Amino acid sequence: SPIIMWFRRDLRLSDHPALTAACQSGRPVIPLFIHDAQSEALGAAPKFRLGLALGCLGETLADKGSRLILRRGDALEVLREVIETTGAGAVYWSRLYDPAAIDRDTKVKETLKDNGVEACSFAGHLMFEPWTVETKTGGFYKVFTPYWKAVRGRDVAAPLATPSDIPAPPNWPESAALDDWQMDAEMQRGRDVVRPYVRLGEAAAQARLGSFMAHIVEGYDESRDMPGEDGTSALSENLSLGEISPTQCWHAGQRAMQEGKRGAETFLKELAWREFAYHLMYHTPRILDQNWREEWQAFPWNEDERRVEVLAWKQGRTGVPFVDAAMRELQVTGRMHNRGRMIVASYLTKHLMCHWRIGQKWFEEHLIDWDPANNAMGWQWAAGSGPDATPFFRIFNPDTQLDRFDKGRDYTRRWIAEGRAKPGDEALAYFDAIPRRWGRSPEDDYPDPIVDLSEGRERALDAYRNRDF
Ligand code: FAD
Repeated sequence: SPIIMWFRRDLRLSDHPALTAACQSGRPVIPLFIHDAQSEALGAAPKFRLGLALGCLGETLADKGSRLILRRGDALEVLREVIETTGAGAVYWSRLYDPAAIDRDTKVKETLKDNGVEACSFAGHLMFEPWTVETKTGGFYKVFTPYWKAVRGRDVAAPLATPSDIPAPPNWPESAALDDWQMDAEMQRGRDVVRPYVRLGEAAAQARLGSFMAHIVEGYDESRDMPGEDGTSALSENLSLGEISPTQCWHAGQRAMQEGKRGAETFLKELAWREFAYHLMYHTPRILDQNWREEWQAFPWNEDERRVEVLAWKQGRTGVPFVDAAMRELQVTGRMHNRGRMIVASYLTKHLMCHWRIGQKWFEEHLIDWDPANNAMGWQWAAGSGPDATPFFRIFNPDTQLDRFDKGRDYTRRWIAEGRAKPGDEALAYFDAIPRRWGRSPEDDYPDPIVDLSEGRERALDAYRNRDF
């Protein structure tokens, strides 16, 4: 009987333990994606990006004589229907670690098993399953450095090859049409602006990993901090949807390290940060929506999303060039450099004293590389409320940061049009990416700072000192 390969955030064919196991069984394989409540709930940009990824995976499977069957509805109900119409005897999938996915998958597994259907979950999204990394006393890690020490020497099995054959079933079940799902509907004007920045699919991700290792990783330990340079892997959107596996990146990084490439270890460390974020989310799912450190519940976060300051932050019109450049990069590309993410997050939570959840939600709506674990950890790190977070009193000064990390002003010039005689195409693209109702034009004056940086800093420090932490 056929095996249903239930794809979720593992949209690739190589280094795919679940797919490899299904193919090696010799039984027909039915690749299936279910558009269920969880994918419906995605923000505009991640949903748009998922739609592109599904189209690409469908083509890759078709090249192999297989198909991607698309269905919409409750996961368990869809699986039951497909099992009934195809006579499938098993469902395979790659594990996910957020609480909603764990609940869904546990229910699916139990029900299928009760009905005599084999249900198997596999690793693949992570290198280190969160429950396999333990402190000496048997707990989980809350601080990155000891976590890193615990995992960096581990054997990570070599990546699996793409299955040479994906056996087709005698009859294919019906499939929805991807276009009918309109997964780009909420992107409005931005979709055409963002689309050229998308690195879509497995083949493109592999090619980027190759060129990153050939040309960039050598100096990555320094270039990764320079938002005006092409100095990072830019593979997060592919890792987020599983178009490339962390194991493939890890092995490439290990090879680069053996070749003596200086930045390779730093790259491995960043991959471990991703694993650490999942480790934290698995062990303390409250990191997704509550102050990880409970004492922060008492902090006077401003939670009013309609404040003019928040609007200015969202629009990239705070009058602070580093913050505005980064927020505009987000609008145009669906991505933001890590340095930018740290600075806009620090500015929102400290200079504006807004709740980190406001920023987390904005990123969730706008990032094509949105990842639940990395985003939550990043925001709580920046706000000071997370485990192993930057202390609240260490407040980034966005202007000093500019002098350190964007000395030549390449980054700010690239993204800010106002006040320039000849703004570049990307700075102008921002005006095509944003909602018309914002009423912005490149002829506007560049705004004065909405908050004086030292006043904002003092206000935040006062609030911090006056709390009883
Ligand atoms: P590279 O520098 O090439 O790093 C390689 C990979 O390592 C990345 O693709 C990513 O998977 C992982 N990685 C790197 N830095 C981090 C980090 N600090 N934390 C966790 N994993 C990391 N990353 C996301 O993938 N999705 C998010 O939604 C997200 N939200 C963030 C929000 C905030 C406030 C902050 C401060 C960081 C956030 N990050 C997020 C982490 C980081 O900014 C991005 O992973 C990184 O910028 C992606 O670019 P890259 O692929 O070129 O990374």
